[in-house]
Amino acid sequence: MQLNNPNQNRKAVVIFSGGQDSTTCLLQAIQQYGKQHVEAITFHYGQRHAIELEKAQWIAQDLEIKQTLIDISLIKSITQNALMDSQASIQQQGTIPNTFVDGRNALFLLYTAIYAKGQGIHDIITGVCETDFSGYPDCRDVFIKSMNVTLNLAMDYSFNLITPLMYLTKAQTWALADELGYLDYIRQHTHTCYLGVEQGCGTCPSCELREKGLQTYLASQMPS
Ligand SMILES: [Zn+2]
Repeated sequence: MQLNNPNQNRKAVVIFSGGQDSTTCLLQAIQQYGKQHVEAITFHYGQRHAIELEKAQWIAQDLEIKQTLIDISLIKSITQNALMDSQASIQQQGTIPNTFVDGRNALFLLYTAIYAKGQGIHDIITGVCETDFSGYPDCRDVFIKSMNVTLNLAMDYSFNLITPLMYLTKAQTWALADELGYLDYIRQHTHTCYLGVEQGCGTCPSCELREKGLQTYLASQMPS
């Protein structure tokens, strides 16, 4: 379904990991901007599992979206965390789980903005979300707004950082996927598991959040 809307000649770049959230953002962007006006950027930063990148590449190809891969794996040499270290177990340390990568979203946004400006693109879409999530400081709206100002000043250019999922619960993100007509697609093809298990391990915090949100959404759709 192609909507007639004011975005018709605008272009957008979506920060795309191949997970549920960024895939939902990519599908929404395709609907809003038109496929030919949407690009994806995928970051390689030494993730524990190659499966994440493979899924992201498969989805971008399947949706016929131009995808640019950017390698920022040097981050591994200066910081440590459970998302990148295959030996580490995933745990909560105070309010922040050890899957948090310091500076990750700031880097993603900076590199994406540099790329976007080069392409004449103003709209940058990211699936970060402060609801329901693990207390990652760089997923907060206040950080995104601050980064938007910083990027505009850094490059003397007007970026629009767009966060469609910022205040949605996981159940509401599933509802959005369903509205877009892609609920089953996202269930089948996206990858969210911290442990890199195909179809999800079912027990890591990411799988639990995803499954709980899905069950909540599906239950809300049952005829009462
Ligand atoms: Zn899992």
